[in-house]
Amino acid sequence: MDKKTALTFPLILDGATGTELTKRGMPQGACTERFVMEHPDVITGLQQEYIAAGSDAVLAPTFGANRPTLERHGFKPEEVGQTCRDLFAITKGHAAGKLIAGDMSPTGFLMQPFGDTAPETVYNIYREQAATLLECGVDFFFIETMIAAAEARLAVRAVRDLSKDIPVFVSMTVNENGRTMYGDALDAVLLTLIPYDIQGFGCNCSIGPDVIARALKPAAPIAKRYGIPLIAKPNAGMPVTDENGTHFPLKPEDMAAAVDGFVGMGVGIFGGCCGTTPAHIAAIGQAAKASDKQRASDVEPMEEGNYVSSSRVWATVEPEASYTPVDGESEDDIYDLLDDVDPDEVLYLELKEGAADVLIRMDAFIPNPVAVKGEETEIEKIEKWLCRKVR
Ligand SMILES: [Zn+2]
Repeated sequence: MDKKTALTFPLILDGATGTELTKRGMPQGACTERFVMEHPDVITGLQQEYIAAGSDAVLAPTFGANRPTLERHGFKPEEVGQTCRDLFAITKGHAAGKLIAGDMSPTGFLMQPFGDTAPETVYNIYREQAATLLECGVDFFFIETMIAAAEARLAVRAVRDLSKDIPVFVSMTVNENGRTMYGDALDAVLLTLIPYDIQGFGCNCSIGPDVIARALKPAAPIAKRYGIPLIAKPNAGMPVTDENGTHFPLKPEDMAAAVDGFVGMGVGIFGGCCGTTPAHIAAIGQAAKASDKQRASDVEPMEEGNYVSSSRVWATVEPEASYTPVDGESEDDIYDLLDDVDPDEVLYLELKEGAADVLIRMDAFIPNPVAVKGEETEIEKIEKWLCRKVR
């Protein structure tokens, strides 16, 4: 069976790693990857507790096992690949019979045009880590805690350039307003990822299940249309710091109470992030498995059609504006096309015939939604245009 068809839903992931390792002796500010390498019994004990609590899949401790993060923590350049392999092997060594995800996270670079890092640099970091994890035999990729659609797209593209068959899940992190730190909206982010064939999309960490539910809701009709299960892997609420240290307010039963609403939106992949424990996973998993899966039919799927999307906004395009690709076409064509969009039809209106052709054409024009620093990027021009139309 290939790895995509091996996935069954609801799929219960694990809970927090970082906050649980801290409870089990990892010093504040320590490099998690180094701590795990030096104390493999601690991570395997934790993961065994998650498996006993009902996790169908665990994330290998490779969250920060990419070149820049490991080098920032003092690993030598020649140790990077082997460290990632060793970290994966720790989980593989004890989690037989469970799915093991290759975990990837933000690189920590600020990409152009916000910072100086070229998209190719970020792409190459993900490609190197993804190649190592594929060799290790991951069951799926979990690209998580992403705060920028542009970086998430590069990570997905890096995996897809290496394998068309491996399942890829993408999980963003949002603020109170339901958007990522870069202002990305989850419906628009999902649309931009559709052409890369992802098997799960959603949100982790953030500020508890309610914020995640609000942020994911606009993405639900899109996920339903494309048959993509949504992911809800919230933290246990906004952490509170007092004289006893930092703690997370939501109890297992509080998080389990959110599960039915998630199922109704089309969430099929559940887990917990910071502050959650094996007890949280047991409660969430039981609620997910008990919930009526038909509830997901509450969501009306988005109609298929032409749309254009940046990471923040998206719009439908009228069928008469259908775009006929021509060899040697110029960038002006996309703007001509956009000029045909009726301003009243923009955002959350019915989509018409023609599938994702327009988006794919945009990708051809915009290899990455970023460009040379100091110049207005293509995606920004289009966003401005769409925002003008929306207003
Ligand atoms: Zn977290």
